[in-house]
Amino acid sequence: MQSEQTQSVNTEEILRHLPRLDGVIPMYVGGAWCLATDGGTRELFNPSNGRKIATIAEASVADADAAIAAARRAFDEGPWARTSAADRAALLFKVADAIDAHRDEFMRIDTLNNGKPLRETEYDAVDAANCFRYYAGLATKPHGQTFDVPAPSQTFTVREPIGVCGQIVPWNYPLLMATWKLAPALAAGNVCILKPSELTPLSTIRLAAIFDELEFPPGVVNIVTGTGATAGHALAASMLVDKIAFTGGTKTGRSIMQAATSNLKKISLELGGKSPNVVFADADFDTAVDYALFGIYANAGQVCSAGSRLVIERSLHDRFLDRLVERAKTIRVGDGFDPQTEMGPIISPVHRERVEGYIETGVREGAALLCGGERLGGALAEGNFIAPTIFDHTSPEMRIVQEEIFGPVLVVQTFDGEAEAIAIANDTVYGLAGAVFTQDIAKAHRVIRKMRAGITWINTYHPTYNEAPWGGYKQSGIGRELGTYGYDAYTEVKQINVNLDVEPSGWFSGR
Ligand code: NDP
Repeated sequence: MQSEQTQSVNTEEILRHLPRLDGVIPMYVGGAWCLATDGGTRELFNPSNGRKIATIAEASVADADAAIAAARRAFDEGPWARTSAADRAALLFKVADAIDAHRDEFMRIDTLNNGKPLRETEYDAVDAANCFRYYAGLATKPHGQTFDVPAPSQTFTVREPIGVCGQIVPWNYPLLMATWKLAPALAAGNVCILKPSELTPLSTIRLAAIFDELEFPPGVVNIVTGTGATAGHALAASMLVDKIAFTGGTKTGRSIMQAATSNLKKISLELGGKSPNVVFADADFDTAVDYALFGIYANAGQVCSAGSRLVIERSLHDRFLDRLVERAKTIRVGDGFDPQTEMGPIISPVHRERVEGYIETGVREGAALLCGGERLGGALAEGNFIAPTIFDHTSPEMRIVQEEIFGPVLVVQTFDGEAEAIAIANDTVYGLAGAVFTQDIAKAHRVIRKMRAGITWINTYHPTYNEAPWGGYKQSGIGRELGTYGYDAYTEVKQINVNLDVEPSGWFSGR
């Protein structure tokens, strides 16, 4: 179902607090707003109606290098590395408060720039503030260890910042992904150069304005806006960057990993998925249907952990699919500013074509298209809208079953018995997330323990917590974000050995 009208939004009003230089939204480098040295700019568009919303500076390699140099100075010579954990925490609590104070503005910037409905961007803004708060709290907690080593030594560890961190994030959760990167890194005492997606940089620039107002030392937070191939690659390949953290597609992750070998920088990768949502016949029917929809159609399926494969027990298949298709057809697709909207657009025309290409492939491969599959017209014709889509009667080798589509496209796989459910669940190169629905709690645990995935749910889909680790098995990534794991990923561990018996060792005789 589609919302009846596209909204007329006041772009100027929504973007009124964003800085401008010569009418262009600038980058934030070394504590100052600046344009690209070569004058490069990029136009940004509202994915709900294709209208231009702003022009932003587009970094060249020289601009990325300038940000790296500023960050390097800030870490090596500036006050940040000597700032106490308590002082860093105090600043990060203020960032959280400022996001809360401007929640409505952040919501509207991301709905304008990304297209997702306001109720989703509200979740993102609330969670972003809480993420800064969580890591502000963590900054002051003890986290070294002591070891009982042979006398006369005493050994203990301390955690220290890694240094200059390059951070590259995608467009699907603009504010939240920037937060997941910046909050733990800054809490641990690092300095950052963050590159938002070229498509959705606006909320990150608004966040930079908060860092600026709170007078973070120059160079501690740098935001470089530009393409992955230029600015992103420069961060990944630089000899002066100590760590690279990336969220995005698996193919890009692979190329970042290769570039990062230049100086063997530390690396965190949060990549794609093709996550199984396993529903047994004894599941609570309405709950399982509800979360099957939420699992795939939240954020129009543009979620790394989306439940994009419904793995359903054969005896429940027909009844479940009847209800699922009926419900999918009632999802209100439209402009994110319309309070009725339940699902927004695809991020860009390029990505919409990629998703449409997968739908064509599914039909060509012989899967049964149960609903959706088409671009929405009428009042939504100018936007990148695709109807909620379900493919049934798939086979394991189909591309729509194996590859990440990153759109509102669900594929159905049918099983008989627990062993086959597990085999199907694990039958992709990915291992990011997965869920199981059953009222048999022992079966739920058995299946979850055999699922090769880093984030799993029983009788729910998608809840994500700042307190708990986030990341994937197999080709879904390296390392974990969030929780104490996310903090540790931004620290080096130093072993300190103390000799309690201060006298010469006598190893060499000196004769
Ligand atoms: P990418 O993985 O290409 O983009 C994510 C980020 O990486 C962006 O900031 C991008 O920059 C940057 N980037 C791109 N190439 C490089 C590079 N060579 N070096 C350094 N940084 C780079 O995602 P796409 O937007 O192209 O989407 C492609 C597919 O990736 C999707 O269809 C989906 O399957 C998957 N994806 C997965 C996400 C996840 O959360 N797991 C998120 C987004 C996409 P730029 O601004 O130029 O795009």
